[in-house]
Amino acid sequence: MKTLLDKLEKEHILSLEEYEILLKSREEDLRQILFEKADRTRRQYYGRDIYVRGLIEFTNYCKNNCYYCGIRAGNTKAQRYRLTEEEILSCCDRGYGLGYRTFVLQGGEDVFFTPKKMADLICQIKERYSDCALTLSIGEHSREVYKMWKEAGADRYLLRHETADKEHYRKLHPKEMLLENRKQCLYDLKELGYQVGCGFMVGSPAQTYECLAKDLKFIESFQPHMVGIGPFISHKDTPFADKENGSVELTLRLLALVRLIVPNVLLPATTALGTLRDNGRELGILAGANVCMPNLSPECARENYMLYDKKLSTGEESAEEIENLRKKMKKIGYNVVVHRGDCK
Ligand code: SAH
Repeated sequence: MKTLLDKLEKEHILSLEEYEILLKSREEDLRQILFEKADRTRRQYYGRDIYVRGLIEFTNYCKNNCYYCGIRAGNTKAQRYRLTEEEILSCCDRGYGLGYRTFVLQGGEDVFFTPKKMADLICQIKERYSDCALTLSIGEHSREVYKMWKEAGADRYLLRHETADKEHYRKLHPKEMLLENRKQCLYDLKELGYQVGCGFMVGSPAQTYECLAKDLKFIESFQPHMVGIGPFISHKDTPFADKENGSVELTLRLLALVRLIVPNVLLPATTALGTLRDNGRELGILAGANVCMPNLSPECARENYMLYDKKLSTGEESAEEIENLRKKMKKIGYNVVVHRGDCK
């Protein structure tokens, strides 16, 4: 086991079978060696800096029907909302004052926000906050649309691939959604010059160790700038209402492995991790993560952007409580910095 980890730390590549072995292993000291290596690797690139992003969940309308997601079109119980342009800009304003230098616009695939409307919004944000980075996370679109948004000033794009296994993808999404399309989007985004993030849930229904090994293989070959990983958490008004939540331990192991595969990756300790475990954020950082994305949305949005049950938006998950987050990070030896936080 130790030799496999040494090899991964040096070469950043393993076989599918080797990844599976590392994921399954119950060896006691594996965890510690893995986290130590991940921490050391992260420090080579980012020192003890933690980057923060202000997350603006600007719409929960969505035309898609992903089986796991609380804001899926088929969930008639969801209270739908969309923020106005003014509301979004005032989120940025508040965020800037708090020290955020990256804003993430995330939402469902809401046809109300046409490509043109989004481009206008992007222009306005970048004009007002020229020293900030802007990240989009609004799903699958054509190359032309991604190009328009890039030219409008968007810097980064988060689009989790969700699972790199074709059959598994089928089990998480209705048939009109295709893994090939999602991957094509990722390739287009990268080619257009975005800093691109892929990622997946841990413990989503029907996921096997082989699926996760394939996720790692995909990350190894795609070489993303960012990777979003969080445990699956069930939502009561979805087809997966009765499914078990993902494991925090396994999520931490995957964070550490991804750090070793792509040493300079921007790796958030996700909200889902913080939702399942009190000190989830800290554990994520100690496993190799270097980014936190607290919520900058207005109150009404926080209540209704429910991707899964009990999703946190208070405490460290709240952008306003950055001082609190700063203290908690300080306590475990890390510094929250006021910085765009680009991929090194
Ligand atoms: N519409 C955008 C944003 C989706 S929400 C897009 O398609 O990219 C952001 C991420 O939340 C998703 O990619 C998914 O991985 C995660 N997510 C959704 N439902 C979840 C659940 N029930 N548990 C944990 N994570 C979930």
